[in-house]
Amino acid sequence: MIPGQDEMMPDSHTYLIGHPSSKDLSLIDPGLVGKGNDKIDSILKMGIELEDIRRVIMTHTHFDHIGALSEIQKRIPWAELWVHQAEGDPLELGDERSVYGMEMFQQICQMQYKIKGGSFRFRIDRKLKGGEILKIGGMTWDVIHIPGHSLGSIGLYYAPEKALIPGDVIYADHAIGRFDLYGADGTVLKESLMRLSELDVAILLPGHNRTVTKLPAGYILETLQHWEPFLT
Ligand SMILES: [Zn+2]
Ligand SMILES: [Zn+2]
Repeated sequence: MIPGQDEMMPDSHTYLIGHPSSKDLSLIDPGLVGKGNDKIDSILKMGIELEDIRRVIMTHTHFDHIGALSEIQKRIPWAELWVHQAEGDPLELGDERSVYGMEMFQQICQMQYKIKGGSFRFRIDRKLKGGEILKIGGMTWDVIHIPGHSLGSIGLYYAPEKALIPGDVIYADHAIGRFDLYGADGTVLKESLMRLSELDVAILLPGHNRTVTKLPAGYILETLQHWEPFLT
């Protein structure tokens, strides 16, 4: 894990998954604009060879998760890009609605970081649909489509360690992702949380805030029940 360094805008955590000996690592979520080089430098300090990072997998394409993607691509140009189809198709067309979520954010982000419209256009190597069983890095990860925070949000689940990378769908401390941005939907988010609650999760590795290594049983269902009145 390379923790996000929030500033005026949040910076998502970045995770690297895979056994180091496999030389087949995946970088999950680059983070905010301007944070890419720091993240790569942190990875180098861990003693990881950049050549071993074979792909970037995005839990979703919000600005705080993929802002640093082009910086990361410059450092590891060979890495493939994997993302859910519902956000991969727009990303290939340069449709930035999912990236910024709302027009006001688009204006703020573009001004703050001097970004031109149309900067978020990427060729996607693999479009995920959910239900894939990824054999990567000497591990087996399940891909779960969990829309509601965004159209193409995915969770990555590693059953042997009961570890879940849920992106921005659920966090520690009974928090959940916002559902007021483009493509978001409270009732859909409720269904996604329901799906996640069926998993046995002990390690929660969310996109922001703290991680949890001994998640109490029933945590996701409890969190869902807490928010249910608002998820309409
Ligand atoms: Zn998000
Ligand atoms: Zn986020």
